[in-house]
Amino acid sequence: MAARLVVSRWRAPPAAAGKGPLLSCRRWSGARADTLYDVVVSGGGLVGAAMACALGHDIHFSDKKILLLEAGPKKVWEKLPETYSNRVSSISPGSATLLSSFGAWDHICKMRYRAFRRMQVWDACSEALIMFDKDNLDDMGYIVENDVIMCALTKQLEAAADRVTVLYRSRAVGYTWPYPFTMADSSPWVHITLGDGSTLQTKLLIGADGHNSGVRQAAGIQNVSWSYDQSAVVATLHLSEATENNVAWQRFLPSGPIALLPLSDTLSSLVWSTSHEHAAELVGMDEEKFVDTVNSAFWSDANHTDLIDSAGSLLQYAVGFLKPTKVSARQMPPSVARVDAKSRVLFPLGLGHAAEYVRPRLALIGDAAHRVHPLAGQGVNMGFGDVSSLVRHLSAAAFNGKDLGSMSHLTGYETDRQRHNTALLAATDLLKRLYSTRATPLVLLRTWGLQATNAVSPLKVRSLTALQESCSLRKDLANDS
Ligand SMILES: Cc1cc2nc3c(=O)[nH]c(=O)nc-3n(C[C@H](O)[C@H](O)[C@H](O)COP(=O)(O)OP(=O)(O)OC[C@H]3O[C@@H](n4cnc5c(N)ncnc54)[C@H](O)[C@@H]3O)c2cc1C
Repeated sequence: MAARLVVSRWRAPPAAAGKGPLLSCRRWSGARADTLYDVVVSGGGLVGAAMACALGHDIHFSDKKILLLEAGPKKVWEKLPETYSNRVSSISPGSATLLSSFGAWDHICKMRYRAFRRMQVWDACSEALIMFDKDNLDDMGYIVENDVIMCALTKQLEAAADRVTVLYRSRAVGYTWPYPFTMADSSPWVHITLGDGSTLQTKLLIGADGHNSGVRQAAGIQNVSWSYDQSAVVATLHLSEATENNVAWQRFLPSGPIALLPLSDTLSSLVWSTSHEHAAELVGMDEEKFVDTVNSAFWSDANHTDLIDSAGSLLQYAVGFLKPTKVSARQMPPSVARVDAKSRVLFPLGLGHAAEYVRPRLALIGDAAHRVHPLAGQGVNMGFGDVSSLVRHLSAAAFNGKDLGSMSHLTGYETDRQRHNTALLAATDLLKRLYSTRATPLVLLRTWGLQATNAVSPLKVRSLTALQESCSLRKDLANDS
């Protein structure tokens, strides 16, 4: 018998729906035995695929049916391509721990990644800098191609094929939410319609479908968002000579931050956030001019002023007097000789945050829940943090025989992650604004702030720890064991 969809609008009673004023919903009427999954993850990007992997390898999910829906094709390699991809991510040690917990990090290590042990962040308008190095902490992070992470996740999805079904080239085009009260003709599950017209049901839908999330929109969850006046240009760069290349460099130019991330002894990846017009110009310019422009963006002191330099030297002198130990001096990044043909691409940047991460039988993770400027290299790390937290809550629910779609544990996930993600989003947005100006008082403020943080070890360690633990993954995983 054909299923019949009834479109209705209802005001969710607080006790039944948990929260949320109005939810646009379609009521399911008519019975059809669609396949029922315990969990469906809609969106198999880095975050959704990691979620499906983590559940598939969780001991308390051994009797559960999980489905991953991905609109795009399966990404598999016969053999690792020689050419590096232009899309890379800076992966925090906490994210690496999460990927290790279900076996994906081993695959990444067998393919390729680059650890970085130092990070220098400096201002183009002054001598101010902050240098984090291995004296303070061990590996600061890893630069990994997104395709390499995806390939590792695909292998681990295949290893969990008895629990996780993956449908590639399958776009979800409709979601039908359960009626709030169980009625004779209503289904208690979320119904999903795919592009080919087929339907299925789930006890819990996880939206991991990126910053334009269809799941979030279909649920009527509000999203605070704005576009930045910037696009990020990415490219694969060849260095002038082979070096140890274990430093991540980021310079704040008045037009936006430019970062050079190590890939190998001779290659680095560029992420340059700048105005849309300048980004388009960078992508279109001839290779030689592009390389000169990149080198000059890292090396030129054209944005310095005497006043700021004198004020900076004054603070440096005062710090040296009070604390006569060595303060890290500015180092210069390796110079660039060449850019990989066709590796230059631009991405418009924006910020987004969902007002709610959960509803009954629904959770949002990754960019579907939050979108952040890449200057802190935290977008996918925040998503992996969501995975770690949600898996911990769901695993406990499964162990205790609870309904996976119940708000009682979903709100625990939301509280954990919103507290953390909103702080990081706000800090990143503030940094973006603070550094997008040449106004002298603000340049002075950030110059002194950066110099003081660099000089005072506890402050420096605290900033780095905050950055590294921004996913709270170590804490989450420690809680698990
Ligand atoms: C230039 C740049 C540099 C960055 N650098 C870093 C970095 O160094 N470190 C870091 O942590 N983050 C970084 N980020 C952010 C990071 O790339 C994102 O946060 C991350 O990729 C988001 O992953 P996601 O899986 O949540 O979403 P997405 O990558 O957008 O994946 C969503 C997936 O859902 C699928 N999908 C969409 N709709 C449907 C549907 N209806 N049905 C089925 N499937 C669907 C899509 O095909 C896609 O595969 C950077 C971002 C940019 C732009």
